[in-house]
Amino acid sequence: MEKLISGIHHITALAEEPQRNIDFYTGVLGLRLVKKTVNFDAPQIYHLYYGNETGAPGTLLTFFPYEGIKRGRRGSRMITSTGFSAPYYSISYWEYRLKRFKIAFTKPAVRFEKETVIYFEDPDGMGLELVFNDHDPRSAFTYGNIPLEHSIKGFYHAEIWAHEPELTADLLTGKMDHRLMAVENNRYRYASTDQPGCFIDIVHMTDKPEGIMGGGSVHHIAFNTANRQTQETMRSKISESMLNPTPVIDRNYFTSIYFREPGGVLFEIATTGPGVEIDEPREKLGESFMLPLQYEPYRNDLEKMMKPLKLNLNNYI
Ligand code: ZN
Repeated sequence: MEKLISGIHHITALAEEPQRNIDFYTGVLGLRLVKKTVNFDAPQIYHLYYGNETGAPGTLLTFFPYEGIKRGRRGSRMITSTGFSAPYYSISYWEYRLKRFKIAFTKPAVRFEKETVIYFEDPDGMGLELVFNDHDPRSAFTYGNIPLEHSIKGFYHAEIWAHEPELTADLLTGKMDHRLMAVENNRYRYASTDQPGCFIDIVHMTDKPEGIMGGGSVHHIAFNTANRQTQETMRSKISESMLNPTPVIDRNYFTSIYFREPGGVLFEIATTGPGVEIDEPREKLGESFMLPLQYEPYRNDLEKMMKPLKLNLNNYI
């Protein structure tokens, strides 16, 4: 039977300064800003999408930048690291690049015998990892200042810290088409397929207090489902688990349902399409300030109210 869930669709996090956020993700990491819109539930807040050149699901990291937001704290019941996939031979390139931009990172460490990981944080303290591996068939991003042979290919994994890993694991395996792929120490890897971009690592942490949501925290993770029909089927399955999913919500670039999984993380299930090219051509993604229809009447006010943002790629060569 066809799987209802296939990998990570997007990950959405909270940040403070939108310009600082753009500079880091486009400048330092070489992701493409593919959409500049507003939080559909709070239109005075930007919603920034980064991804590969087409903004494909599995590459989309998005942010709500709230000026003045208090910093969060990494802890259990939240996503504590977002992993990006990079070529195996690029470790020294990235070490050099992070050093150059004064970003602290951990010593490369081998995980599951087949990947090498460095951990670092974005300017808001969000946990990030570069996972160097030679088994990611996706092509690299042809954008930004990172040479193609070293550039990021999309997500590798997301990491959740848990006091009771089985709460999340049972949902992933029972209702969401995941299976246990590997175990190393206290790290349990689940995936819907065995490809990078699909891995959910649940790390059993008994000594970490519960995380606090704030700047630098992941707000939610969205899993990919093929279309509206598979989304409805997933919605029924989640309802059966008494997890009270939202109705299907139109997010312009996909439709979504949301629910809090028993381990405490906010999950979303989003459709592959229609995608970020629905309102901007591929070569101009991220250039205009895009609003959903309901906020078009307020465009002038919003444009006056919100800080203008720009790409500063020349500062990050
Ligand atoms: Zn989302």
